[in-house]
Amino acid sequence: MRSLTLWRTLLGVDKTVVEDVDLDLVAGVFVASVRLTRSMRNRCGSCQKRCPRYDEGAGRRRWRGLDFGSTRVFLEADAPRVSCREHGVIVAAVPWARHQAGHTRHFDSYVAWLATQTSKTAATQLMRIAWRTVGAIITRVWADTEELHDPFAGLTRIGIDEVSFKRGRKFLTVVVDHDSGRLVWAAPGQDRATLGAFFDALGAERSALITHVSADGAAWIASVVAARCPNAVRCA
Ligand SMILES: [Zn+2]
Repeated sequence: MRSLTLWRTLLGVDKTVVEDVDLDLVAGVFVASVRLTRSMRNRCGSCQKRCPRYDEGAGRRRWRGLDFGSTRVFLEADAPRVSCREHGVIVAAVPWARHQAGHTRHFDSYVAWLATQTSKTAATQLMRIAWRTVGAIITRVWADTEELHDPFAGLTRIGIDEVSFKRGRKFLTVVVDHDSGRLVWAAPGQDRATLGAFFDALGAERSALITHVSADGAAWIASVVAARCPNAVRCA
């Protein structure tokens, strides 16, 4: 296997040229110097469209990648700015990381998966990242996932309930899909306005396709369901 392919695979990068991989003895980390392939250069960090180059930005920067064994890995590259017609002067896109992220897509995916399988504390210790970073990674991975996946698709039989947290002082309204068994929506609050926001997001057309709604006897749920789901049977 050519060493370039080998390094690309190890670093989890695509459309990227790996120029050099070195051990930074001071920091005790691997640093992979990379650059974009020609077709990926000068693209807007937000919309990915090709744009004229604006300037060199803040120069070279680093993105944390997945560890090699127990040694941390960073990708290092130029981070020029481009001038996008829609988004103005903006840091150019890189294929290995999300816009404004300090971690590679591979790293993000790994942490997001860990967050679904283990405690947040375990994820912070294993990945050597801050508590806040786990939250930021989940947020950006979810934003991408949400674009590809419609949680409301095919929704006909739902359950609505409230769950308390902070020792019963705060509440979330949650909606589950009885057919898939999945949580489809949740928001802070337990009142008509909160549940109304779910039906706003679902839209009138899809609300009309709901056939069954299970809920407890709460009057605020019953009144919103009666108003927004004309074809649904309410059940306990
Ligand atoms: Zn743009």
